[in-house]
Formats: sequence, C-alpha cells, structure tokens
Amino acid sequence: MHEMSLMESVVEIACETARANDARAIRSIRLDVGVLSHVNPDSLAFCYEAIRRGTLAEDAVLEINRIAGEGWCLDCGKTVALTERFGACPNCGHHRVQMTAGDELKIRDMEVI
Ligand SMILES: [Zn+2]
Repeated sequence: MHEMSLMESVVEIACETARANDARAIRSIRLDVGVLSHVNPDSLAFCYEAIRRGTLAEDAVLEINRIAGEGWCLDCGKTVALTERFGACPNCGHHRVQMTAGDELKIRDMEVI
C-alpha cells in the first residue's frame, strides 16, 4: 500500500511547514488528489489516522479534494475531459491525448494555530 508512504511524506511536509511558521498545531490539511492518480482516497484517510498520532497534525482535519482528469488532444487542439490514463479523446476518439490534470497529489493548503 503506497498510500502509507505518500501520507507519511504529506504529514512530514505539513509538520515541517508548521514548525517553520512557529505554529503550535495544525488544524487542517487539504490535499488535491487527482482521479487519475493511482491513489485511493479512502486508503489515504485510513493511513492518515495512523500517521498523525504524536505529530503536530494530531488533531488536524484531513480534507481530500478530488481533481478531475483533463488532457490536451493533439488532434483536436483543445483541452478535453479524461476519465482514464491514456484514454481516448471524447471528441475525436484518438489516443493522442496528453494528460494535463488529474494526476496530482499535493497539499493545496493547510491551517495552523
Ligand atoms: Zn481529439
């Protein structure tokens, strides 16, 4: 389950950021998780429960923001919705679509006290 190591990095980065800002604790962490990333949001939330204990994020609420998939179709020359990695363009049916969104896993923002 790679969600465990991903979540460890998220909490680590959040705690470092909080310490750098002289915060006493983290109140919330908001994550952007793309629907095309190979990350399961439920697993992330589950791992978070285990990892946050004893850290500055102990009482922080985790919010997971799902980002829709999007790609650039080289044939249509425009941005199209993408429902799967390397999926076909919904306009022309070709597979020359470069993913531009939906693959992210990042901290959007966080609140500290
Ligand atoms: Zn197309």
